[in-house]
Amino acid sequence: MPRRAIACPFCGLVCDDLILEQGRVDARGCVKGAAGFARRPAIVEHRVGGRTASLGEAAAAAARLLGAARLPLVTGLAADVAGMRGLVGLADRLGAVIDRWQSAAQQSNLALLQRAGALTATFAEIANRADVVLLIGSDPTPRQPRFFERLLRNRGALYRRAPPYVAFLGPEAAAPGDAAVSERLLVSEDSLLDALSALAALGEGRRLGASASLPLAALGALAERLAAARYGAIVWDIAAFPPASRAAALAILLRLMRRLTRRTRCVGLPLGGEDNAQGAAQVMLWQAGWPGRLSFAEGVPRHDPWRNHAERLLAAGEADALLWVAALTAAPVPECGVPTVALLAADAPAARAEVEIRVGIPGLDHGGAVMRADTVVALPLTPARQSGLPSVAAAAAAILAHLPAAP
Ligand code: SF4
Repeated sequence: MPRRAIACPFCGLVCDDLILEQGRVDARGCVKGAAGFARRPAIVEHRVGGRTASLGEAAAAAARLLGAARLPLVTGLAADVAGMRGLVGLADRLGAVIDRWQSAAQQSNLALLQRAGALTATFAEIANRADVVLLIGSDPTPRQPRFFERLLRNRGALYRRAPPYVAFLGPEAAAPGDAAVSERLLVSEDSLLDALSALAALGEGRRLGASASLPLAALGALAERLAAARYGAIVWDIAAFPPASRAAALAILLRLMRRLTRRTRCVGLPLGGEDNAQGAAQVMLWQAGWPGRLSFAEGVPRHDPWRNHAERLLAAGEADALLWVAALTAAPVPECGVPTVALLAADAPAARAEVEIRVGIPGLDHGGAVMRADTVVALPLTPARQSGLPSVAAAAAAILAHLPAAP
């Protein structure tokens, strides 16, 4: 196989400069990417009731189990774009709820952006144009190891002449150590919302009383720096805020960016996008009108952020069958006590599931596409090896073929 550049599906950056040559992947020094491409299949047999089965037999058993349920739940959703399209179609035919597992932080971002709107940034804008970048909440590198290299120290940048001024606001334990960070404003996790609020207030010219827990002078200087920037960017990790303060934090952030944009430019980028989380949200949006928390139980798609929350449905015993999908991760099936069909990557441990279908990892066992975290592009993936494992899309189609036709 000739040497070629490939995209990496193992975090939301979806770096497209990795090299595939003679079956080996050069992950450009990224430990997470290298570990992803080193994943090896451990279990490749499909199983029904613990016994080895063909894909057709497993798909037929899955269709019987899910088709007999009153309210099946389709979740996990760590799948590529084609897999997600197949799963939405399956949820529609089953009259199921479909929602990404552990999507609370993503849903917080989406709900407020939907209600209030925001100027969001692409990776290229941050890499090429931003002269002041504020990181809020946590170091991006544990989840996105090449964040600084690709966005803030990108030597291939088209327009930027000098590196940006990079400030971090957040807890000391989560502060980035990268040399690209010019300034670290450290506040406790409990004070993060107050610090953000103070930054916004100081930027509006308001006077604040002395505070023992907030670096007000540094926050004032940062507010001035953002106002003086030609192209500011704010990058946040909403999961760094306690759940109860996320909506307030986002409202402050959006107000801050709107105010700055009256005189200069300030764009926002929420961090996240692991396991094609943005792709899952985008496919649900394209197919059904909402980016998650969807129910097809009434024959048409309905969105309800509380009622259709995957974890809540299982905890409350409202879902009576589970279709768990984890192709991009080896995440185990959650303990839930309901009949389960699991579509699992071949390196995931054996599951407590009535039906287990082993699927390929997108970008490793088969091609496909995953959405970058800035949601502007779904990047094509190249299979790095031949495994013969079905994709999630193929498994979903096989299950669908065993269900009664739509009325
Ligand atoms: S930063 Fe993310 S997308 Fe890029 S190589 Fe590492 S794991 Fe892959």
